[in-house]
Amino acid sequence: MTVSMPRLPHRSTLRDLLQNHPDAIAAVLCALLVFLGWAALQSNWLGLGLLLLPAAYVIGGYDSAREGLTTLLEEKELDVDLLMVVAALGAAALGLWQREYHLLVDGGVLILIFAISGALEGYAMRRTAHSIRSLMSLAPDVARVMRQGREQEVPVSQLIVGDEVRVRPGEQIPTDALVVDGSSTLNEAPITGESMPVEKRPGDLVYAGTLNGLGALRLRIHQPPESSLIQRVIRLVEQAQSEAPPSQQFIEQFERGYAKVIVLVGVLLSVLPPFVWGWSWETTIYRALIFLVVASPCALMAAIMPTLLSGIASGARQGILFKNGAQLEWMGKVQAIAFDKTGTLTTGSLSVVEVVPTAGETPERVLQLAAVLESVSEHPIGQAIVNALPSSRVSSPPAENVQAYPGRGILGDWQGQHLRVGKREFVQPQTGEIAVHLRAASDRLESAGNTVVWVAVQGRLLGLIAVADTVRPEAVRAIAQLKQMGIGPIVMLTGDNPRTAESVAQSVGVDQVYADLLPEDKLHYIQKLQKEYKTVAMIGDGINDAPALAQATVGIAIGATGNDVAMETADIVLMADRLDKVAAAVNLGRRSQRIVKQNITFALSFIVLLLIANFVGGITLPLGVIGHEGSTVLVTLSGLRLLR
Ligand code: ADP
Ligand code: MG
Repeated sequence: MTVSMPRLPHRSTLRDLLQNHPDAIAAVLCALLVFLGWAALQSNWLGLGLLLLPAAYVIGGYDSAREGLTTLLEEKELDVDLLMVVAALGAAALGLWQREYHLLVDGGVLILIFAISGALEGYAMRRTAHSIRSLMSLAPDVARVMRQGREQEVPVSQLIVGDEVRVRPGEQIPTDALVVDGSSTLNEAPITGESMPVEKRPGDLVYAGTLNGLGALRLRIHQPPESSLIQRVIRLVEQAQSEAPPSQQFIEQFERGYAKVIVLVGVLLSVLPPFVWGWSWETTIYRALIFLVVASPCALMAAIMPTLLSGIASGARQGILFKNGAQLEWMGKVQAIAFDKTGTLTTGSLSVVEVVPTAGETPERVLQLAAVLESVSEHPIGQAIVNALPSSRVSSPPAENVQAYPGRGILGDWQGQHLRVGKREFVQPQTGEIAVHLRAASDRLESAGNTVVWVAVQGRLLGLIAVADTVRPEAVRAIAQLKQMGIGPIVMLTGDNPRTAESVAQSVGVDQVYADLLPEDKLHYIQKLQKEYKTVAMIGDGINDAPALAQATVGIAIGATGNDVAMETADIVLMADRLDKVAAAVNLGRRSQRIVKQNITFALSFIVLLLIANFVGGITLPLGVIGHEGSTVLVTLSGLRLLR
């Protein structure tokens, strides 16, 4: 029962079926052979039965035997696969020795049900892989590009920045690009899980894999195709999944420890009873075999992984990408949530609302000099400032020695002059006193919820730029929903100034606000929250959130508009950039936790029940097998409920 990512089916020809679902086919063949073997024995065709049943053993048990032996030989460890095979072979041997051939059928049924639960687990895994990969497989391989004045079909991997791509109505977007001409409504469900079509006009960003509606679009490639959102996310998820999640490692370790105990007790039980209780040797061996079967923790192991895998698959379909199953568990236990402000609670598509220069400067010059630095910034404020200038006015040559200080601002040299743009504390040490009219303007603009950034040249203040942000439309509802689910406090952590922060906090309804934070301060506040509330989620979009995202029990990154560093650090990526997905993720986590708990309780009680029944002689091997494997299958199926 080792977990690996199987390949995905494309066409269901017989060969593909064999390649992609070998476990399911083996289970079906095994079932057939066991049934025919049983029928043969019923009709007293002993020879035929003795031919069919061993064949069932081989076909149904081959995978388990191979895995069990590999673990035994290579890692010198015992696992449950091997125990099952030994139990089945033991039953068969006992049957042949005692001429009680129905025991061969019992062993066959044991192998059969083991194969079925293995196939079910494989199914859950494939669904997960499928949900995630279908993101990628949906994006087309070729794009229609204008080259030398002609339209040509070019593989997406050969597209270069600046290419003009044409997309016809109903076609898929080949790679992330900006609309330069045309308008249309796009179905972004393949990426975001949102089925509501989205309007796109010139200047808007479209994503690879999304479906164009009725308008013809001309797109310009603004970044290399391999850095499209979908490609980045797929790389992250694949990377995360190639590392075994801690919960799975724990289960495997548990399985091996437990298997040793069972073998030890099994050996004792097959030797001692004749001396202690005077049991006959047949009864002793028979009971020891049943013990081996019912004590195996198959149901216990099936309690967790299939459930978590189904949960991950179900999340992926809604645009919530869990990097591994452990995070799904944690998400269900979240008690406090911290939100970043700019780009997370707000849309992060800022716009400049006012520029106030010092005496003797013009608003244009303030913007222009700020844009020299901001044109290389990844920060939403930078974008806003650059957008406020007509593109012809962004000054060349480019600035030198540009250095961003996340949470503070940006500095650099341009034509022999030192420029700084950012918070007052970042710019002020160099500028001395601030003119009264600027301070008044800044107070007024900040109280109105705007963010004010300051611009200085050679230590002299040039003026300030006020940018406005809009709160995400679903933010209020999303936060209310989280509170209703009993999660609290909801905290806002921002690098912005207290006045702006307070104004946004009030409009969205968070419980606590901490402003003026540097990236490391955000981390400290997460640690503080963790002392009090243990499981703390942090949601952010920027480089300045990365330390906090890493520290939080669960880090959640805003995917489409967020920064790559944030996505890499986070445990969960929200593809839809919709804050209500946070509540959806908590719900999914809670549901999967509930199912895992039910499963474990059920599996454990069943094991105890069967052990007692076996000891007092109340069950036969078939009953033990059906009880044990039946409970395993039930538990696996119960985990698959999350796929709905
Ligand atoms: P948030 O925590 O709300 O996402 P940040 O930590 O990214 O905000 O930024 C905090 C403050 O630092 C901003 O409000 C701004 O004043 C300043 N700042 C950060 N980066 C820049 C930049 N590139 N240009 C101008 N100001 C910046
Ligand atoms: Mg931010």
